[in-house]
Amino acid sequence: MGTPSFFYHNSIIGGRKLSDIDSVVAEALQLFTDLQDLKKVYSQKVMRLEHSFSEEDWKEHRKNGLFLFKYDRPVFNKDLFLQLIRDVCNCIKRNRPEIKEQIKSISKFFDGVTDDFFEDFLLDGHKVSPSPLSFSPEEQNLLNFVVRQALYPFLEKYVSLLPQEVGDDGWQRNYCPVCGEKANLSYLRQEDGKRYLICPFCGQEWLYRYLACSWCGNEDHKSIRYFEVAELPGYEVYLCEQCHGYLKTFNAKKAVSHEDWVLEDVKTIALDLLAQQEGYTGPGKRIM
Ligand SMILES: [Zn+2]
Ligand SMILES: [Zn+2]
Repeated sequence: MGTPSFFYHNSIIGGRKLSDIDSVVAEALQLFTDLQDLKKVYSQKVMRLEHSFSEEDWKEHRKNGLFLFKYDRPVFNKDLFLQLIRDVCNCIKRNRPEIKEQIKSISKFFDGVTDDFFEDFLLDGHKVSPSPLSFSPEEQNLLNFVVRQALYPFLEKYVSLLPQEVGDDGWQRNYCPVCGEKANLSYLRQEDGKRYLICPFCGQEWLYRYLACSWCGNEDHKSIRYFEVAELPGYEVYLCEQCHGYLKTFNAKKAVSHEDWVLEDVKTIALDLLAQQEGYTGPGKRIM
């Protein structure tokens, strides 16, 4: 639920329809640009901390596919996290005044946050668990979204200190080697066409088989196809006939450049809608 596709699920809360995709994208882009800017400011305030993995941890990680958070987790500074929560909430309120009441109840939730909160969130499906009983499903989604935004600078710092080998050809699983989440986007590298999946939670990238389905692992080429639209050059949407999952893929050979992946994800919301109209499901609806 940390992905921009959240935005248009959430935009339904605001009572708006998706018939006007351009204005949905423009509004989402404004919100996510503001959120990205905010996170960048906080990234500079997060302390660098060395990892503590043993030789055994690394071996087991590769051999058995356990993601790294099982061994060593980011260190969160609760005060900094809560400051960012406040800023994220204000940013959403500014961009989406129609949901300010929901944001208010979400802000209150954090009054009671303890240090265990972080570990529970990381190891329990990247969501607040149990979720507050008084929250509607939309408020629960919004709460998880806000938490994921505010954790990001800490996760980013953690990822930046990992050795290069993380996510290389020794991994090749369909979930993130760092946090265990499934990808919301992939890209084909310009120099060699190798395919990398992108984690929407921690930002780690990892190598994966070309055209294999990142949801179910299916690699029967007859049951995987893709479509593209002229308005969004460089993007291909992979569709799997076995699990009916889809994934947007940026093909660097077909386009010159791209922005921050979060913003790319927002700009290509129309592709999510097209895939979903055809009955395929993707990030946002499929968790872990
Ligand atoms: Zn991850
Ligand atoms: Zn599949």
